[in-house]
Amino acid sequence: MLLSAAAIAIHLVTRPTESIGLAVDPSLAPAEIQYLKDGLHAAYEVPVGMLTESIKPPADAQTPLDGREVLATMDRWPRVPGQRQLAISGAHGDTVERTFVFGLGRRAGRSAVVFTPRLRHRANPTLFRQRLLRVSIHELGHVYGLRHCEDQDCVMVYSATLLALDASPDHFCPRCARLLHGWRQAT
Ligand SMILES: [Zn+2]
Ligand SMILES: [Zn+2]
Repeated sequence: MLLSAAAIAIHLVTRPTESIGLAVDPSLAPAEIQYLKDGLHAAYEVPVGMLTESIKPPADAQTPLDGREVLATMDRWPRVPGQRQLAISGAHGDTVERTFVFGLGRRAGRSAVVFTPRLRHRANPTLFRQRLLRVSIHELGHVYGLRHCEDQDCVMVYSATLLALDASPDHFCPRCARLLHGWRQAT
């Protein structure tokens, strides 16, 4: 009895409850946040909670934030064991390699960020919410360990343009779904 209780305790220590922590800035409306929370919960089947932190906007709205610096900042936030973090920023974002990215996720890390200005381009509220959720699932997919996928019917396909993003699905292809499942069993 004592032994099995200890075994259960060890199991709990080594396998913290998975969750997603969402950090938003004031650019996101409550209805948009709720849509995103529901969609991420459906995609990853983990609790999605709100973080108190958020990404500080740049002093000049036209100046993009450096995506990697944003992720480095997020990595320093207090950590809940088993939690992966997603920040939504109303600022433009870029990286050393690419200008104006939709988002960025550190592969097998803990943080991802989505930059919304381009996603709002010529989008009605419904289209914007769809784009926001799709990019969020994609970037968190990297955090869960996935790379870009060649399958056009997979959310992990690389989209450089809004046209490509709008044509991509919200779901994982069978291969990525398998990899995601395996990765989550192993971590
Ligand atoms: Zn990607
Ligand atoms: Zn795939």
